[in-house]
Amino acid sequence: MTASMNSGTPVYNPLESMNRRFDAAVEVLGLDVQFANVLRVPDKVVMANIPVTMDDGTIQVFEGYRVVHSHHLGPSKGGIRYSMDVNLDEVKALAAWMTWKCAIVNIPYGGAKGGIKCNPRAMSKGELERLTRAYTRAMKDVFGPETDIPAPDMGTGQQEMAWIVDEYSKINGKNAWAVVTGKPIVLGGSLGRVEATGRGVMVSTRSALAKMGIKPNGATCVVQGFGNVGSISAKLISQMGVKIIAISDISGGYYNEDGIDVNAAIDFVAKSENRTLEGFPNAKNISNGELLELECTVLVPAAMEDQITPENAHKIRAKLIVEGANGPTTADADAILDAKGILVVPDILANAGGVTVSYFEWVQNRLGYYWTEERVNRRADRVMKAAFDTIYNTSEKHKVNMRLAAYVVALDKVATTLKLRGSF
Ligand code: GLU
Repeated sequence: MTASMNSGTPVYNPLESMNRRFDAAVEVLGLDVQFANVLRVPDKVVMANIPVTMDDGTIQVFEGYRVVHSHHLGPSKGGIRYSMDVNLDEVKALAAWMTWKCAIVNIPYGGAKGGIKCNPRAMSKGELERLTRAYTRAMKDVFGPETDIPAPDMGTGQQEMAWIVDEYSKINGKNAWAVVTGKPIVLGGSLGRVEATGRGVMVSTRSALAKMGIKPNGATCVVQGFGNVGSISAKLISQMGVKIIAISDISGGYYNEDGIDVNAAIDFVAKSENRTLEGFPNAKNISNGELLELECTVLVPAAMEDQITPENAHKIRAKLIVEGANGPTTADADAILDAKGILVVPDILANAGGVTVSYFEWVQNRLGYYWTEERVNRRADRVMKAAFDTIYNTSEKHKVNMRLAAYVVALDKVATTLKLRGSF
């Protein structure tokens, strides 16, 4: 049972979804239970209550988390999320997913995730700066270029990363560019990092369509979510020749069977007062739920967790799902999608382009030598394509879906490292 009921609406727990797939992979691998027990739970959970003086002079206390899931492949890596939905189970699931993601794309990192329960849209820039700096001080013994390296996630971006690098550098009395990735270019950021997750989603889509024998011209795509991942995925997938027929954000869904002009939508959001698609012209208004059920070739859920559930999975009419978000499909929905013959490129593979270029940023910071955008993109595309092929081949070998294959590849690698290190 994955869902609990809250006044008639099922509530899903991403940690339970993560654990279900983890257990299935343990079985496929025949992994010794003692190693599975180490890797099922996080290494370390840090929670801080963070008091912040708000613009009106009052003091508000925010819950801040950093969960380090594993450090077996290297320093832990993962973003920081600002959202009212942040809770410990969610951060634990997201941290574990970072471990599996880094293993899949072969970068020398463990996994972590951070979160602050707050509504960044309702906070001023000053309030966000004070909150981010206070969170960095609370996590000063966790973060470090060789220990744990944060990055952006939902509700955070380059500005928050700039405050983190500044605060951490001040605490330590020296510049520490490599303590965080996703920074502005002038502060040691990498070219291509902003686009990297969406670019990886595009490469995953291209690779999957090729396996399915479907040409991009003539294919259609629906994208849920229009933040960094959704908007850039939509843009790059449309550049492949695929027609984007619907997009959405918190203001709702926008559908046009003749195609959405994605660049116009990106400009529209940038110029709109509340930074949403509200009022976007030349499209029919639909709900986020209706959007998921549209007939299309590719569906890219790039919003948040638990969007494809046993409630709606049987109504999905896409041929291919490429998961831009972390955890958009609940564990119970997997079998329903399989039975419908829908190919799913799972989150821990499809959205790994972001952390891949984060790794390139960290490498560049440590070298003090910066790459061209062309070099970043070329290397990231190569990594994503190789990871896709590995997972696809593993899924054929074990006769399992790509999600389980991704967990199998990741778990096998991390468990091997754990055994070799012999740290217990
Ligand atoms: N938050 C992103 C993710 O979920 C990026 C993490 C990173 O670059 O470290 O993959």
